[in-house]
Amino acid sequence: MDPSLRDRPGPQRKVYFDIRRPKARPEVLEVVGRRVANLLGHPEPRVAEYIVDELARASGPVPPCVRISYLRAVCNAWPTSARLHTAPRTCVFGCDPVAPDTMRHYVACPVSRGVAFAHLGLAISGDEVEAISDVLRLRHRSPRDKLALFLYADMIFNAMCTMRQALGLRPKAVMISRLKDIIRRSRPLYDLVRERSVRWRL
Ligand SMILES: [Zn+2]
Repeated sequence: MDPSLRDRPGPQRKVYFDIRRPKARPEVLEVVGRRVANLLGHPEPRVAEYIVDELARASGPVPPCVRISYLRAVCNAWPTSARLHTAPRTCVFGCDPVAPDTMRHYVACPVSRGVAFAHLGLAISGDEVEAISDVLRLRHRSPRDKLALFLYADMIFNAMCTMRQALGLRPKAVMISRLKDIIRRSRPLYDLVRERSVRWRL
């Protein structure tokens, strides 16, 4: 089993395994559709359908841990204080003293977006509603952008978890470290990042 899936019960884990079984598609679409509707503020079945299709299709170039990070974003299952109902915290990347510790903020956070633009070639909106839409709507994206969006979700999720566990880290360095770690496992992802980050010694 992929180590990232151990000890992580929850609907996103079930969905992750089910997207590889065509027979489970109606149930999977229902779960993903509900989560997408919550995030977008209204039902949009085609968006959920594309997410399920693209996650299944990406099984070659995209490591399982990256796909589960994206799925956790779709399911709003990142361990933020807003979701866990713990004492409210602020953005772990330190972009603004009043920026909230929420997934909606992290996908629109200027720190995340800066790294995405510089190293993934992604222009994500600074508006939280539009940024969520940017991340979820895969339908009209190029194949390259779809891979970049999966990487974007994984980069933020893992950097967020790392920053919580250690003080004094620089968020951009943590994000880039995660990108480097992932792209070493996949030639298509390596090529995608390498074309933007020619100065990296990969
Ligand atoms: Zn922030």
